[in-house]
Amino acid sequence: MFILLMGPPGAGKGTQADLLAEKCGVPHISTGDMFRAAVKAGTELGKEAKRYMDTGQLVPDAVTIGIIRESLSKKENQKGFILDGFPRTKEQAAALDGLLAELSVKLDAVIDIHVPGTELINRITGRRICKACGANYHALYNPPRADGICDKCGGVLYQRDDDRETTVKKRIEVYNEQTKPLIEYYSRHGQYTELDGTKGIKEVFAAILAILSSKKTHDNL
Ligand code: ADP
Ligand code: ADP
Ligand code: ZN
Repeated sequence: MFILLMGPPGAGKGTQADLLAEKCGVPHISTGDMFRAAVKAGTELGKEAKRYMDTGQLVPDAVTIGIIRESLSKKENQKGFILDGFPRTKEQAAALDGLLAELSVKLDAVIDIHVPGTELINRITGRRICKACGANYHALYNPPRADGICDKCGGVLYQRDDDRETTVKKRIEVYNEQTKPLIEYYSRHGQYTELDGTKGIKEVFAAILAILSSKKTHDNL
């Protein structure tokens, strides 16, 4: 099962990718998570990525394509994956096509999650992440059982630096300029489906499972 989740920042890609990964036992590949891990580890990649992330800009294509190439070269990612946050530019989409062709892989589903701008801002500014395991919460829409503490591992929750309102607006602008044009590119892809992402997390998940089962992508669905 090879799935691409598309959509603006805050649409719910990471949340849905985690649910799918858990249900289907397929890895969740997120360029945002990879960059945050590099920042935390203090690597050169992390230092470079942070400069762009902090201001809501995209990390340059050469860097981003490089980390995806490395990730897809791993055996454990070649049996299936849920890709979230990549591609974000036409160059990245072209590079992904090339990488998939090299691996003889075809995407089973390209799911584009639609959520309007005002709701994106509510979702992003309320997002909270576990410092220890990366689990994703929302202060109002998906709160943890104990305030500020991860349900899964007991870790402390924090707000991403780039999830504050001024940077969020910039990120949505960057999405509209650089990433939205990819809808045109992928709508020609036979497996492209648009999905209303405004419902609750469980309803959106059920809608994704329905799309995937109509495509018979996985035995566990
Ligand atoms: P979101 O939750 O807004 O979808 P991500 O966690 O996917 O955000 O990404 C956070 C930041 O990491 C982006 O604002 C950007 O700076 C960088 N980033 C992530 N993926 C990419 C990508 N494919 N190309 C360029 N930059 C990226
Ligand atoms: P993305 O990866 O697309 O940037 P996330 O999955 O991180 O988006 O979701 C952004 C925020 O919105 C998170 O705090 C998440 O808990 C919350 N969220 C995700 N899906 C929904 C939904 N369907 N309804 C309400 N809140 C949601
Ligand atoms: Zn945790």
